[in-house]
Amino acid sequence: QKLRVAIMGLGSYGTRVAEAMKSCTSAELVGIVTGSPEKIPVWKSKYNIPDKNVYNYETIGQMKNNPDIDAVYVITPNSLHHKHVMQVAAAGKHAICEKPMADTAKHAQDMIDACEKAGVKLLIGYRLHFEPYTRKVIEMLRAGEMGKIMHVDNYQGFKIGDPTQWRLKKNLAGGGALMDVGIYCLNAARYLTAEEPVWVTAQETKTDPVKFAEVDETITFQLGFPSGIIATCATTYNFNFERLYVVGTKGFAEMSPAYGYGPLKGRTHKGPLEEPVVTHQTLQMDGMADIILNGKTVTPAVDGYEGLKDMKVIDAIYKSIKEGSKKVMLG
Ligand code: NAD
Repeated sequence: QKLRVAIMGLGSYGTRVAEAMKSCTSAELVGIVTGSPEKIPVWKSKYNIPDKNVYNYETIGQMKNNPDIDAVYVITPNSLHHKHVMQVAAAGKHAICEKPMADTAKHAQDMIDACEKAGVKLLIGYRLHFEPYTRKVIEMLRAGEMGKIMHVDNYQGFKIGDPTQWRLKKNLAGGGALMDVGIYCLNAARYLTAEEPVWVTAQETKTDPVKFAEVDETITFQLGFPSGIIATCATTYNFNFERLYVVGTKGFAEMSPAYGYGPLKGRTHKGPLEEPVVTHQTLQMDGMADIILNGKTVTPAVDGYEGLKDMKVIDAIYKSIKEGSKKVMLG
């Protein structure tokens, strides 16, 4: 049996996931949750969604009585993930939630607790954890092919357009570039090193205080790991850059682009990385179906605890900035 998924939030990424799911073998799109009635006929005919699987944000509680939906994929603005995952858990459905998992670690923990209490799984949309280039680099690192890891240097950013979009509003976005794309650098630093950071320091640059009145524009941050590795990372909404770099005593891996939808590109000390080019979200949804339906595990993980670890570091980065770039220790 396939994992029967409803998408909540039919925006740009929700549409991308819906298209990618057409090629899934273990997951299928069967329902929608939307606050935009005009989207309903379009999605119904495009994805063959029956009326009984169409919900809005007020009626989602009724999904409890619908045995034909197993999971809801929350693809709404970041600050709404908390409320929406709570609704999904209350409806007794497994929750898949986009990154960043929440706007604070406190909310992330609430979401984990609610899903555990409801007896449903909570997975976070870390699509790169299923992606072949990323997995190859991790595999080489774990096999010791690069020796002892000495340094990580990751950055990801883009020049944001429309000044009225939710990504620039604190109450919907939770934060700026760090929450949206800096999380890739941070998450990668954790899976490259296979360690959890013990301290962070961070600095913020704001060149356009009008456009970025509510959220961060550019943040540089450093993560200190127990073995002594320091990852240097940067993220921005003000220019385009994207790179993953890890160097060890015996070799290195470099990817650029490293975090987008692909095709990704990279090389190691052994030569170019040549892995299958896949639709990330197809692989992710098939992988998540295997986790939810068959209890499979994936490393690096994609569960709520993985999301919470990133949120704790994000909280600490904002704290460091607020305290004048002071070193913030992580518990
Ligand atoms: P979007 O603006 O295109 O879509 C957001 C959707 O949420 C819209 O359909 C909108 O109608 C709906 N929504 C519900 N309540 C809303 C409210 N109160 N205000 C505004 N919109 C509301 O945004 P997006 O780019 O699709 O991003 C959605 C989520 O997906 C974000 O959490 C983002 O970080 C994540 N995302 C992940 C990736 C990835 O590669 N994993 C890529 C892009 C976006």
